[in-house]
Amino acid sequence: MRFSRLRLNGFKSFVDPTDLVIEDGLTGVVGPNGCGKSNLLEALRWVMGENRPTAMRGGGMEDVIFAGAATRPARNHAEVMLSIDNAERLAPAAFNDADTLEIGRRITRDLGSAYRLNGREVRARDVQMLFADASTGSQSPALVRQGQISELINAKPTARRRILEEAAGISGLYQRRHEAELK
Ligand code: ATP
Ligand code: MG
Repeated sequence: MRFSRLRLNGFKSFVDPTDLVIEDGLTGVVGPNGCGKSNLLEALRWVMGENRPTAMRGGGMEDVIFAGAATRPARNHAEVMLSIDNAERLAPAAFNDADTLEIGRRITRDLGSAYRLNGREVRARDVQMLFADASTGSQSPALVRQGQISELINAKPTARRRILEEAAGISGLYQRRHEAELK
């Protein structure tokens, strides 16, 4: 699953519309401290359905919305759009004839999040399962947070098992089993 474009608007420090084309061979993002490198990674996690504020370094989900600065007022919503090359046809059947998948998530203060897949409103779960079935997603070990390596070394066996399950491509099954057990 190849990410080809990431657009942000009002997300954390990216208050102005930002459009990043992700070309083959991108290996790193560099910049001074506080310029927003980690925020970019968090935008990727968020649009893939991350719902734990702690994973976004916030106290609540609305903390991803631009909170204002000395010269600029706070925003009321944040939006992230991720484009994915769908050459491998990994999308759910209803969307799978498209060459590109456009996944969007928008949060509005007091109203929460809404998701779109190629223009159609979908549930958070639809987006999460799409990525789980493609063995990626907001909790994928492909996205390494600052400090995460030392966490991993100290992790419990069950947490390490998740990573092996993802490598084996069965994360989607794991999630469905978990949901079945809850019912
Ligand atoms: P480092 O090199 O230190 O890891 P970084 O490039 O990863 O830095 P980030 O952590 O992505 O930087 O960005 C931090 C900046 O984002 C801070 O200036 C912080 O004030 C700003 N920021 C985070 N959340 C918001 C928000 N909701 N509204 C406005 N600014 C925010
Ligand atoms: Mg950082």
